[in-house]
Amino acid sequence: MADGDTLRRFLFERFPVRGYVVHLDASWRALIEHHDYPPLVRDTLGETVAATMLLAATLKFEGLLTLQMQGPGPMHLLVVQATHRMAVRGVARWRGAEPPAAASLEALTGGGQVTVTVENADRSSRYQGIVPLAGARLADCFESYFAQSEQLPTRLWLAATPERAAGLLLQRLPSGASASAEEIEHSAAAGDEDWNRVLHLAATLTPTELAALPASELLRRLFHEEDVRLFEPGPVFFQCTCSRERVSGILRSLGEAEVRDILAERGSVEVTCEFCNRSWRYDAVDAAGLFTDAGPVQGSRALQ
Ligand SMILES: [Zn+2]
Repeated sequence: MADGDTLRRFLFERFPVRGYVVHLDASWRALIEHHDYPPLVRDTLGETVAATMLLAATLKFEGLLTLQMQGPGPMHLLVVQATHRMAVRGVARWRGAEPPAAASLEALTGGGQVTVTVENADRSSRYQGIVPLAGARLADCFESYFAQSEQLPTRLWLAATPERAAGLLLQRLPSGASASAEEIEHSAAAGDEDWNRVLHLAATLTPTELAALPASELLRRLFHEEDVRLFEPGPVFFQCTCSRERVSGILRSLGEAEVRDILAERGSVEVTCEFCNRSWRYDAVDAAGLFTDAGPVQGSRALQ
């Protein structure tokens, strides 16, 4: 598929608005491959994955961005992680015998909140932002996140099918500095006008178009009268960060007694990664090794 698994940045040449288009194809299919998600949960996960990539694209960080949605509703947990290299993994959990029916995001999650955590790989800095899970659309929720954390007007369009997850982001950047008060006022008014015109043009975009069209075609269709510079695409890909070392850390944090109980009951300890479905097996000897090695105890982290 043209534009498969890519992120593309673009700029409006004549005013300070930037944007990103993301399309996830093989990466999205790999992400859901081992899960039997109800369509609504799957689509919400797909849109969240696209939105997380767009968010990661706008931020300056070198490490891991984790987005976690938690609420009391049928879809009670959703986690997506993206690195600054645009590697992604994610998982959603839902409860109840019946798959959730068509509903707003608020009804699906039962309210709750979205937590965004950005950690640099060298652990030099950690940032966390929280917004309530409110609004009918996932995009609304992300827009309030941007308004709160970045303080830059930002709009998102998201789409997901079983084959593809896609997103478009538009962001208004601050106008140029070092201008006189009068110029600033003038440029603010002109800036409002430009921003509103761009939003008005983008408002015609349908989820079907967003999922189907390559970035260049999409931008041409929406903004053919504007001067848009489209940058070269960068790859997005599925990658899980689970490892035997991490799983061992989780088992160590469970404690020796607990691990012994599981061994006594099942003969071995098997841990399956929810993100990639990879299994890690520990027999009695491996398990004993966990608690005789002098390795440091890793913190327990849910889901990995
Ligand atoms: Zn994994």
